[in-house]
Amino acid sequence: MSKLKNKVAVITGANSGIGLATAKLFLEEGAKVVISGRRQEALNEVAEILEGDFITVLADVSNPEDNVKLIKEATNAYGNIDILFLNAGIAPVAPTTEVTTNHYDEVFNTNVRGPILATKEALPHINDGGSILFTGSIVKDKVFDGFSVYSASKGALRAYSKVLTSEVKSRGIRVNTIAPGPIDTPIYGKLGLPEEVLEENEKNFAAMVPLGRFGVPEEIAKTALFLASDDASYVNGIDLAVDGGLSQV
Ligand code: NAP
Repeated sequence: MSKLKNKVAVITGANSGIGLATAKLFLEEGAKVVISGRRQEALNEVAEILEGDFITVLADVSNPEDNVKLIKEATNAYGNIDILFLNAGIAPVAPTTEVTTNHYDEVFNTNVRGPILATKEALPHINDGGSILFTGSIVKDKVFDGFSVYSASKGALRAYSKVLTSEVKSRGIRVNTIAPGPIDTPIYGKLGLPEEVLEENEKNFAAMVPLGRFGVPEEIAKTALFLASDDASYVNGIDLAVDGGLSQV
């Protein structure tokens, strides 16, 4: 299989969950992959298990200088970029009465400012006809208490992606967003919730999904492959829910 033969892909948040599953699949499909994350140790671990043509780049997307560094190292290694997958994100829980400036800054700097600055850096180096993907979320429209700032961040990212879709049209660059529902990744261990609340929430989430279960990262990776490849050559500007039907009920 080589749907991405010789394509250069940059993926943020690629040491875990959705990003890692996508990096693996893109490598299997013949892409050269820039695997980016904010922890060197985690990058070293994935470098041990992955096979194919890839480099790892340590970059914290909430740090503007790191976004410059990411694109510089990517283009130094592989030249122009074909696929930019802005996937890194965090979802710490805070009821609205407990939202602090730090919480807001952390979420927005990671989930919104990071992808916006990385896109700006990357655009001059993205080949015409390339593909930009964002990981959004169904929380943009579907309400889950405690996720107000996170939901706002994904809504902001979606609004940004629509303007970007229009601004890059003359270059044939397609811009799409994937909106996952509950996907079984390490992100749930990072929400800041006690273990028993987490277990209860996971049961409740799964029961709300028409398909009755969490998704797995590989199901998002396959969606990313579709959107990044020529199979989706006429798919542009969309926000694709991959959520077992949760956003529709
Ligand atoms: P994950 O396993 O925690 O992966 C998130 C990745 O982003 C990790 O590699 C994480 O690094 C990285 N990251 C976080 N902050 C970063 C920063 N400042 N700079 C660089 N990398 C950073 O979770 P996931 O579920 O795969 O999440 C991927 C995306 O899917 C996120 O945007 C998330 O909002 C979105 N999403 C997930 C779900 C779900 O149910 N899983 C649902 C909807 C949307 P560390 O390993 O160091 O934390």
